[in-house]
Amino acid sequence: MVAQHRQPSSQDIPAPASAVVTLRQLALQALLVVTVVFAASGLGILTRPEHQLAAFWPTNALLLGLFARHPALASPAGWAAAALGYVAADLLTGSSLLTTLRLTTANLAGVAAGFLVFRRVRHEDRQLQHPLSMLSVLAVSAAAALAAGLAGSLTSSMKLGFLATSGFWFSAELVCYVAILPVVLLAPAPATLRHALRERLVRVRRRPLTVMPLLALLLTILLGVAIGGPGAIAFPVPALLWCALAYRLFTTALVTLLLCVWTLMAIATGVIDLQLQANGPLPVISLRMGMALLAVAPLTVASVNAARNRLLATLNHAADHDALTGTLNRSAFLRRGRELAEHAQRTGGTVVAMMLDIDHFKSVNDRHGHAAGDAVLVTFATRMREHLREDGLFGRFGGEEFAVLLPGLDADAAMRVAERLRHLASEPITLDDGRTLDITVSVGVAASPASMHADALEKLLSQADVALYRAKAMGRNRVVA
Ligand code: GH3
Ligand code: MG
Ligand code: MG
Repeated sequence: MVAQHRQPSSQDIPAPASAVVTLRQLALQALLVVTVVFAASGLGILTRPEHQLAAFWPTNALLLGLFARHPALASPAGWAAAALGYVAADLLTGSSLLTTLRLTTANLAGVAAGFLVFRRVRHEDRQLQHPLSMLSVLAVSAAAALAAGLAGSLTSSMKLGFLATSGFWFSAELVCYVAILPVVLLAPAPATLRHALRERLVRVRRRPLTVMPLLALLLTILLGVAIGGPGAIAFPVPALLWCALAYRLFTTALVTLLLCVWTLMAIATGVIDLQLQANGPLPVISLRMGMALLAVAPLTVASVNAARNRLLATLNHAADHDALTGTLNRSAFLRRGRELAEHAQRTGGTVVAMMLDIDHFKSVNDRHGHAAGDAVLVTFATRMREHLREDGLFGRFGGEEFAVLLPGLDADAAMRVAERLRHLASEPITLDDGRTLDITVSVGVAASPASMHADALEKLLSQADVALYRAKAMGRNRVVA
């Protein structure tokens, strides 16, 4: 594991009081684990055909996902609670004690193996942030499924023989882990769930075509039911890839999980007829493994897409912002300024432009050094930005020259804002090394007439520039309109 995820050892600084797990917390954590395991097992048992393994057994992957996301839950008490949940669910639904212990051993062996491998997975891969992250999830799933398969077949009567029994277990577990783990790992925290849901609903309402990939998926699923045959499980793949490109990672993970559950259930109940002639366990093992490996594709595409979107966002931000002060650069300011001016033109609003230039900035550099000059620029820009309204624009036009664009202000209000900015700039600036220095700024202001023209922005900015020039000529540290 990388250093930053190291658990604090006893030689580290003492843990803060809040980090000490109280008995009450331990009991609550154990209660959560036992509830999840019991409820999920109950569901799995109720849907499993008599005397057979369940077609879809979500408990182990849910438990591993829970332990993986919240390692504090994987305490001895957590593992004991999980065992209790498995045993209780099986005993209450009529399994014998021997069968219950056998199944619980296999389930826990799988989760433990998966948990051990998961601890070696990089932090970014746990969130599927990299193109190959899904392979890490596949490795965790395979380890868990293998351990469950071995433990399950070694403790069972093996009527089918070792290979078939362990293959049955392995494939059933693999598809569950691969489909469920990403959903649990990526699920939004309960506190943000409502917000996330509302945000998606708003997106769908604003752009109804967003649902097209989902509709395409439904259509291909129906096509699979109608045509059937061995190829039917691959029909939804293109629509699934479309979902991966159109939706966020978590949504793609959820859609993939639902498709896996649907396909396995539909085949088990005969809704989709694969028309496989061969008897014995091989078709089922093959089908489950095929589904598991198929699920890797959309999630890999979604990971690649998410990584690409993050990169594009970083590039866009870098292209629009000044690296030193983090404010808009000249070209981005002008682009957004044009939009703002066009909006004012349409709505009959006014726009105010200001040009700000720090006075005698060269002497700041000369006296205190270039690094101090940089720090002054950052402080100056931060103060201006924090004072200005959200709907205004603030940008760095070059060196120590900045521009402001504010909608909806008349000339008097503009002068008041400019005076306030000038005043803020003159407050002492303390450098990292403790030195304090004072600067002043000159401001040129230009207010648009009541109705703006399309080319008004450039005119307004050059008017503000002329006013700034006059402020400098009049002795600096002043606002001129
Ligand atoms: P005035 O009152 O007439 O505006 O005088 P001034 O010294 O502020 O103006 P001038 O244009 O003569 O000098 C601007 C200085 O700003 C010169 C340049 O070295 C400095 N400068 C430009 N960009 C940066 C920067 O990113 N960091 C630092 N530290 N200095 C910069
Ligand atoms: Mg200057
Ligand atoms: Mg200048």
